[in-house]
Amino acid sequence: MSGVRVGIVGAGMAGLSCATELRKGGVDVVLFDKGRGPGGRMATRRAEVAGDTLHFDHGAQYFTARDSAFVATVGKWLVRGVVAGWPAAGDEAYVGVPGMNGPLKHMAKDLDVHWGVRIEQIRQQERGGWTLTSADERHECDIVICAIPAEQAAELLGQAAPDFAAKALQSRSKPCWAAMAAFESPLPIDTDAIRSREGKIAWAARNSSKPQRGAGETWVIHASPEFSREILELPKEAAADVLLEAFFDQASVAPVVPMHSAAHRWLYAMAESGPGPASLWNAETKVGACGDWLTEPRVEGAWLSGRAMAEQILDSLNDGARFI
Ligand SMILES: Cc1cc2nc3c(=O)[nH]c(=O)nc-3n(C[C@H](O)[C@H](O)[C@H](O)COP(=O)(O)OP(=O)(O)OC[C@H]3O[C@@H](n4cnc5c(N)ncnc54)[C@H](O)[C@@H]3O)c2cc1C
Repeated sequence: MSGVRVGIVGAGMAGLSCATELRKGGVDVVLFDKGRGPGGRMATRRAEVAGDTLHFDHGAQYFTARDSAFVATVGKWLVRGVVAGWPAAGDEAYVGVPGMNGPLKHMAKDLDVHWGVRIEQIRQQERGGWTLTSADERHECDIVICAIPAEQAAELLGQAAPDFAAKALQSRSKPCWAAMAAFESPLPIDTDAIRSREGKIAWAARNSSKPQRGAGETWVIHASPEFSREILELPKEAAADVLLEAFFDQASVAPVVPMHSAAHRWLYAMAESGPGPASLWNAETKVGACGDWLTEPRVEGAWLSGRAMAEQILDSLNDGARFI
């Protein structure tokens, strides 16, 4: 098995889960991520406000664990102190600590991840193997895996795996505008997490109520997919204002001017529930795809998809007759 090099595009939960399993199986893995550090859709945004550093989980808010293997992994993360319970979202809700990207940082520290590298092209070499190209780098590997959202996978895999690209095109993600706001004093809202199925705001959470988030009064507000679509092209500042206004209105609280506000637009926030199988693998061309769009649009779904991907690769590698 040694000597085989796997290149993974995307070091979010799916890519890191896949890489972790491959490394356990003794496989050489390298990951590329366009982000500056671990996060993907479990990102944590930092802001300097009045001399303090504030953190906002502007993507995934919390996660749950149902699959027994994921439950066991979350148990290890709890022991390592990279996740903790957050009762505001339910008895079995977990968050990364000190930020949502806690478990991703933990996974990435033992892996070879090239941050800040956007892979623009995946090309098959004549003598077998793959070349991954970014604006300034070229990397060669024997196996290539795309662990990125469906729409981006469809684009990147167009030539390398047209059948996977076509499958990815069937999955449509919903957008989400997220606002992050810090206030001088606590807002008069007696709950730390608000969900709504009807309003413009689908979710609002007192980010500062999560464990190890430090002092201060910080909130993360998510617009519903419908409202996000309606205001999709607004500039960030305007989107932050619109979300805050809708939030105060929905929470029946008099508007308060924040000390700090910002917004982030997630174009591909939530995939539709996956068409299955949990990961896509072509043992002949040695291309694969994984991500939450193949399972469920949740942290656990991404982890399971990455693990399924690694299992398929390890099976192929163990089947020497098929992997030459
Ligand atoms: C607003 C929001 C709220 C959510 N709330 C929850 C929640 O409460 N609970 C829950 O369980 N889940 C939630 N989710 C979903 C959860 O975050 C995702 O299911 C999960 O993080 C997906 O992981 P992934 O690895 O499949 O994809 P991602 O996290 O998107 O990782 C893909 C990675 O690929 C990188 N990338 C993309 N293209 C390239 C390229 N060409 N080259 C290099 N790198 C590339 C990206 O930078 C990214 O790091 C939420 C998501 C969002 C956006």
